[in-house]
Amino acid sequence: MSQEIWTIKDVLAWSIGFLQKSGSESPRLDAELLLAEALECRRLDLYLEYSKPLEQTERDRYKDMIRRRAQGEPVAYITGRRDFFGLSFNVSASTLIPRPETEHLIEHILESTSRDKNQALKVLDIGTGTGCLAITLKHHRPNWTVEAWDISSDALLIAQSNAAKNNVEIEFRDVDALDPKAWGTGRQKFDIVVSNPPYIASNETEVMSPSAIKFEPHSALFAEKNGLAFYATFAAHLPEIMQANGKVYLEIGYQQRAEVFSLLEEAGWSDCLCHKDLSGHDRVVVATRP
Ligand code: GLN
Repeated sequence: MSQEIWTIKDVLAWSIGFLQKSGSESPRLDAELLLAEALECRRLDLYLEYSKPLEQTERDRYKDMIRRRAQGEPVAYITGRRDFFGLSFNVSASTLIPRPETEHLIEHILESTSRDKNQALKVLDIGTGTGCLAITLKHHRPNWTVEAWDISSDALLIAQSNAAKNNVEIEFRDVDALDPKAWGTGRQKFDIVVSNPPYIASNETEVMSPSAIKFEPHSALFAEKNGLAFYATFAAHLPEIMQANGKVYLEIGYQQRAEVFSLLEEAGWSDCLCHKDLSGHDRVVVATRP
């Protein structure tokens, strides 16, 4: 882009074409989100001020963002934000980007507790990442006590910033859920445990999006035991920290339903159910504590 005048309309047209050529599946949306970020305005404002020229600093900032996006970096890492279930979350390279299919965990938990919203339940989110699950639940059920674990102290800092940004109180703890010492020893008993743990097997990289592998934290994506390490640990150890009849809500990989059911059933869990996501894939497993 040279010294001539570039309006919002011009830069959008140019960058949409450029992102399309560099392989983006949603070039218009990407360009709009990034331009709104560069101009510190809402997406809608781009169309209300379509003929407004950009300042040189705004053009430089936007060009840099478009260059990163063209190299495959997810929009959320460039803007530093992603919406989840109607709330806004900070993200960083040490957190997974919240995904739409993960919103189903929230839907099922809110639905199953809708008859008594004010009951003071104790809830735990394991592997909280950005904190999107813990924070969204606390936002919708202010009477709940919500605790959230993560092994990454960098992720916990982001999660804390998100709790502050969304005005909720969560008890964050630095815990390695795969370490047997994390369990037992007289902590509070939870009524609900939710987790979207790492569940991708190390040999599954070919079915994943290259940008997830390149940019997202591997510790949040991949798990041992063919992707099942966290479910095996949860099946065995969650009963120690849960109330009788407590429920667990787990996101799973779309081919893991049968294996996760057998892990839970062998450990005595009952009423195992699986819900599908909007693409028709098995996604949410619910079970009742033995
Ligand atoms: N619980 C977080 C989320 O749902 C992080 C999940 C993870 O890092 N595997 O986005």
